[in-house]
Amino acid sequence: MQAEEREQGRQHQLLGVLPLPRRVSPRPSEDLASVIVRTAHAMGYSEPGWILRPEKVAHVVAPGELALLRRRLDYELLMRLLDIDEATLYRLTLHRFAMCYEFPDWALISPEPPRRKVYSRELPLLHRLADYQVIERALGLGEAELHHMTLHCFAARLQSPERGARAPSSYPAGESIDRPLLSRSTVRRLDISLRSTKICPGCLDEAPAYDRLFWRLRSVILCPYHALLLLDRCLYCSAPIPGLRRSPGRCPYCRREYLQAPRALIAPTSWLYEDQTLLLHQLTAENANGWTGSPAFAGSPVLRIEPWHYFALLERFENFLQPRLAGSIVMQTLKKLAWVDDQSASESPVIQKVALQIALFHYLLASWPENLLAALDRTHTLLKGQHERRGALGDSWQAEADRLAQRIRSASIDDDAPFVLLSQVFDTFFTWATLTGIPTRR
Ligand SMILES: [Zn+2]
Ligand SMILES: [Zn+2]
Repeated sequence: MQAEEREQGRQHQLLGVLPLPRRVSPRPSEDLASVIVRTAHAMGYSEPGWILRPEKVAHVVAPGELALLRRRLDYELLMRLLDIDEATLYRLTLHRFAMCYEFPDWALISPEPPRRKVYSRELPLLHRLADYQVIERALGLGEAELHHMTLHCFAARLQSPERGARAPSSYPAGESIDRPLLSRSTVRRLDISLRSTKICPGCLDEAPAYDRLFWRLRSVILCPYHALLLLDRCLYCSAPIPGLRRSPGRCPYCRREYLQAPRALIAPTSWLYEDQTLLLHQLTAENANGWTGSPAFAGSPVLRIEPWHYFALLERFENFLQPRLAGSIVMQTLKKLAWVDDQSASESPVIQKVALQIALFHYLLASWPENLLAALDRTHTLLKGQHERRGALGDSWQAEADRLAQRIRSASIDDDAPFVLLSQVFDTFFTWATLTGIPTRR
């Protein structure tokens, strides 16, 4: 906190800094240190370092930082003293070559002053009207088209209607476009990646090769068109896959082809395939690969809830995968019923974890209500066994299991509260998982 206050104090001091009376214009390809040397000469200073520690300002630019200038305060001080803008100052540092080695930090700079920059990490959640205008002009696209290429197009499916209908407070009012926006809290909750994405090697092998927007969602791990698991990192150097990269199929870090990775086909009859197809349908309302709905989910309340309900439940289910619950009776039971260990042929721990989450979650919703009742019954039998050793909780579990089973059996197909029922089911399992996840004291 103190450091932050000090930083703010210095920032405030910088507001009073005036441009040096004698300055030079940076030459093409000039080094920032060289600009400082020439400016010092113009000022008649015998020491170029004086420019880096002006009087009455607590902030000092370290000479060793010049070539890789990155601190906000360094930029602000030098922009004021040399009377140049940020882009010009940046071009005097080695960072200007960043694009040759890494993915660029900004995607686009408007050709006219004030040279508005659109940062690459902002692209997936593009919301500022001014940014839209820059990109609309550059790409010759309309606002609606552009909005459709951002994650905001999923706003109505990923968050509640009240949230989806108005611009969330996480964006400055008046600056944003007047369309549904995904709130920043939803992005955090769903763990949507803004810098990196996943890829399907099959999709990128076809012309035109391009990234699908939904690959950025944590829970999307399979391409139904190619029956392939997505890659979330380069198989050769393990670097994440930046959304903004020079070539769709090539790793910008090690320069090897993503597409040369070995491909393991996922059978369209597998659970993973079925579950991912259902998930993509909830997300995009499209039926991937001619999918007309799996018979496994016929009659399941999952087909009668809103897409945002589905994602809310799936997200809540992620809680079951906490390491502290791994040994709980609930997780052990669900894994036994719904998980085959080599189900996911991915080397990525993140994709493996999502595959497990997806498999257990959808198992409970498929073959309604048999799977759910089987899980309830089996969990309950094991809990009872443990109760004999532990005492106390057994009776209340019994009562709760009976109530829930009763409710599930009696829920008719026209029940208008499937979301409430499913929330209750998952909440009960979660309570049990928490209680049985605590190690028994002997
Ligand atoms: Zn594909
Ligand atoms: Zn690589």
